[in-house]
Amino acid sequence: MAFITSGAAAVSGASLTARRAFTGAAVCPVPSGRTSPAAATWSMSAGGLRTFLVGGNWKCNLSKDAITSLCKELAAAPDLETDKVEVVLAPPTPYLDHTRSVLRQDFEVAAQNIWVGGPGAYTGETAAEMIKDVGCTWVILGHSERRNLLQIRESDDFIAQKTKTALSHGLKVMFCIGETLEEREEGRTLDVCVRQLHALAETIGADDWKDVVIAYEPVWAIGTGKIATPDQVEEVHEKIRHYLAGDVNDKVAQETRILYGGSVSPGNCNELAQLPDVDGFLVGGASLKASFLEVIESFKSDLAATV
Ligand code: PEP
Repeated sequence: MAFITSGAAAVSGASLTARRAFTGAAVCPVPSGRTSPAAATWSMSAGGLRTFLVGGNWKCNLSKDAITSLCKELAAAPDLETDKVEVVLAPPTPYLDHTRSVLRQDFEVAAQNIWVGGPGAYTGETAAEMIKDVGCTWVILGHSERRNLLQIRESDDFIAQKTKTALSHGLKVMFCIGETLEEREEGRTLDVCVRQLHALAETIGADDWKDVVIAYEPVWAIGTGKIATPDQVEEVHEKIRHYLAGDVNDKVAQETRILYGGSVSPGNCNELAQLPDVDGFLVGGASLKASFLEVIESFKSDLAATV
């Protein structure tokens, strides 16, 4: 599969305030045989179109007691305005059921992984049916730790197949993509993101995208305290939207939420939330504390930037 190399550096700085209508040529890699959305026109406004979403990925952290305490602290905040912000927390698999039982009802629960097929002789795996059975509505797939850790090394195709399985069981998917530091330094950021997304576009139908949220998570920014600058984030998010228009369709480009993930914290979330193509966050470390509530509140910065 060949990709047209982007004129990568030729990206303007992101406006932190303007929600703009976009009309113009895409500057993003498009898989060969597909057309670039040269004449795409859509509103970049997130207001009303793409509900802000904040995910918390607890990874392989916390105990049953610690989850109970954290859920109590999270319950202290007022009810969510779910037409303005959605919140999804992803505990370790053994605590999915417990988390669902102690977590406030207006927060949803995600698994951090699923098995690619149905139940059966698959030692150590967890089928989508089981995740649903304990009240989960989401699953995180394609996280860089599952793509890149040498002991795991999930391939683009395997992740796409898992996504198809999850969707076919009515689970929504946070589909993570992102480049390593080496790939960024080699100018391959967009090629990598497009390669990861194209595997999915080839595997699911255009109608399936309504239950997919993309999480752009540059690997070099995860758990490192280094966050991508607002310009770097907006550049990639905007190009992902262009890619979706070319490889899937304009509707999917306009409606699919693109989250940013990588050392998001109460200190940086409000600036990032104002970016036109940032529709929420996937948060690791900062979701382990009650101050995660401040990241959730950043939906207000998103709304303020939309008007
Ligand atoms: C993540 O694990 O998805 C993540 C973004 O982690 P952190 O916020 O800790 O960088």
